[in-house]
Amino acid sequence: IHNGCLNMYIPIENLVPSNLHISGVLFKSLICITQVNIWRCVSASAQQGGVESGTRRKVKRLLSFQRYCHDSRLLRGLVPCAPGSLHFLDDDYLGQAAHMLSKVGTWNFDIFLFDRLTNGNSLVTLMCHLFNVYDLVHHFQLDMVKLHRFLGMVQEDYHSHNPYHNAVHAADVTQAMYCYLKEPRLAEQLSPLDVFLGLMAAAAHDVDHPGVNQPFLIKTKHHLASLYQNTSVLESHHWRSTVGMLRESGLLSHLPADMSQDIEQQLGSLILATDISRQNEFLLTFREHLDNQDLDLQLASHRHFILQIALKCADVCNPCRVWELSRQWSERVCEEFYRQGDLERQFDLEISPLCNQQADSVPAVQIGFISYIAEPLFEEWQRFTEPSALSRTMLGHLHKNKACWSSRRCAPSSPGTRTDSPDEEPGPEAGDEEGEDTP
Ligand SMILES: [Zn+2]
Repeated sequence: IHNGCLNMYIPIENLVPSNLHISGVLFKSLICITQVNIWRCVSASAQQGGVESGTRRKVKRLLSFQRYCHDSRLLRGLVPCAPGSLHFLDDDYLGQAAHMLSKVGTWNFDIFLFDRLTNGNSLVTLMCHLFNVYDLVHHFQLDMVKLHRFLGMVQEDYHSHNPYHNAVHAADVTQAMYCYLKEPRLAEQLSPLDVFLGLMAAAAHDVDHPGVNQPFLIKTKHHLASLYQNTSVLESHHWRSTVGMLRESGLLSHLPADMSQDIEQQLGSLILATDISRQNEFLLTFREHLDNQDLDLQLASHRHFILQIALKCADVCNPCRVWELSRQWSERVCEEFYRQGDLERQFDLEISPLCNQQADSVPAVQIGFISYIAEPLFEEWQRFTEPSALSRTMLGHLHKNKACWSSRRCAPSSPGTRTDSPDEEPGPEAGDEEGEDTP
């Protein structure tokens, strides 16, 4: 199985009713197909002979069908181990996970530890807990079985082999979103629908992320790039995948059609706002509102805009976390970039910015990201919160982390060096959170 990010794993036996004949060859194992300009059939074991080169074209023709099968859980059948199922975990682990959930509103929440304690089910477990906190199941008369099915689908459709864009990132963004929804300036104004949309969008905002960026999909002529006409390709896919899972799970099927349609549209608007290429557009509008002091959170449209900003903040909040968590995210995102760079090198494509491990060190990537993306956004968010204790804490972490990366960039270590065991750790933050639901 290729180590790249565009692999599609298609266990044929799970997909088709039985014994599908593909150009006379009965597939009984796994086909792994990678798309980088051409489709390559990497491995297939067949009962009768190997896969001939001419078969490749026929396999390619089958992809639309296979992709449909891959996307459809109806054809895939039930997942053997339902995500969210904790029954096989030791009581100690469950106890610790439950204890962590009692502090889910604290900013130093360790999502990596929580994911280990829940056996990789951090997203489902967190969402179920937050739905209970806000009483959303009761408010929207949700069917718990459908909710669990939907959340399980979302969690499962994140690619666990992505170093960064995986279900733990989604859980991390959801936890950050929860912290922002609790901001005093916002909490009182939010309707149950706002909270529902904010949490759902956070949980699903990167679902089925292939681990490569939009320019890569465009230059390799990926079918998603042509489907979405090279515009917000990934975000559109995350949104449409979410809508597909909502409909397949039937989670909203009991609601009036116009309401479920409105929810789908609003989820789209929120998820599409995470397109980093639209960062300036959102930042300038946000700044203008703050300058004019004209945000009226009684208005649904203004609350929606703030939810978009909150989701954007949650999506890029890694530099605002305490160093030990922040560092791990930095290394993961760079690892994902470097993997894309390796793929590009392998297929003689131009190596994308930030993706060259030899030239783009982790500290350099992080300093650029903090300076141009995170810092301007969180400075405005701090203004919006007037400023809250959490905003101060976040910007405090951001500045210390930036200083730490700067000192590392100046250090004589080679570019791309792992950043474990730092010589100098930033000290513990003053006013760091210990108690429940403090920022
Ligand atoms: Zn994201």
